[in-house]
Amino acid sequence: MTMKPRYDLHTHTIVSDGELLPMELIRRAAVANHKVIAITDHVSFSNVTEAVKSIARDCRAAEGWGIEAIPGAEVTHVPPGRMDKVIDLARKAGAQIVVVHGESPVEPVAPGTNRKAVENPEVDILAHPGFITEEEAALAKDNGVYLEITCRKGHSLTNGHVFKVGDSVGARFVVNTDAHSYRDLSTHESARRVAMGAGMSKTEAEIALLKNPPELIKRHR
Ligand SMILES: [Zn+2]
Ligand SMILES: [Zn+2]
Repeated sequence: MTMKPRYDLHTHTIVSDGELLPMELIRRAAVANHKVIAITDHVSFSNVTEAVKSIARDCRAAEGWGIEAIPGAEVTHVPPGRMDKVIDLARKAGAQIVVVHGESPVEPVAPGTNRKAVENPEVDILAHPGFITEEEAALAKDNGVYLEITCRKGHSLTNGHVFKVGDSVGARFVVNTDAHSYRDLSTHESARRVAMGAGMSKTEAEIALLKNPPELIKRHR
C-alpha cells in the first residue's frame, strides 16, 4: 500500500515565529511524504516584503528535492481596514499562497477580520475562522476563498462549526497544520482524522486533502 501524499498550505519558520529555517522545514516535509508545502509566515506592514522574498529564496533552492515548496504569507492581526493593502504587498513580493489569520476562538483577532478576508478574491485561505457566520462562508465560496480545518490545538476547537457552516453553503475546505515545528507536520492519515473529526465523511475528507489543494495552488502559478 502506498502512502497518500500530503499537501500542507499553512506553515511557519524562523522568518516569523517557527522553529526552523524554511530550508530545513522544506527538507523535513520532503522526507515526510509531502508533495507540496507552502511556507506562510506571519506578515504585517512591518515585514511583508522581506518575509516573502526571504521564503522564496529557500523555496527556489529546494528544487530537486521532489517537493513543491511554495512561498506564501499569513496576514496576521492587521486591522481589517488595512488588510487589503498587506495582501497586495504580499502578492507583489511573490506570495503564491495568501492566508489570512482568521478569528480563532483562542486569540483576540479583531472582529471583521473574517469578513474582510472572504470579501477579497486575492485571499486563498481563511485560516482557523472560529465562529464564522453563514454569510461569511457564502462570501468565501463566491470569492474562491478556501476555509481551513486546522490540526493546531486551540484553533481547532471550532473545526466542527467551520465545517458545518461552510458545508451548508457549499464552501470548499483545506486541512492544514499551521506547523511551527517539523513535529507539527502531519501525515495524510492523521490529517484525515482531523477532517473526519470535524464532521466530514471519508469522501469529503479526501476532497479537502487531495483534490482542493492542487486546484488552489494552480491559481497563482
Ligand atoms: Zn505563529
Ligand atoms: Zn499560522
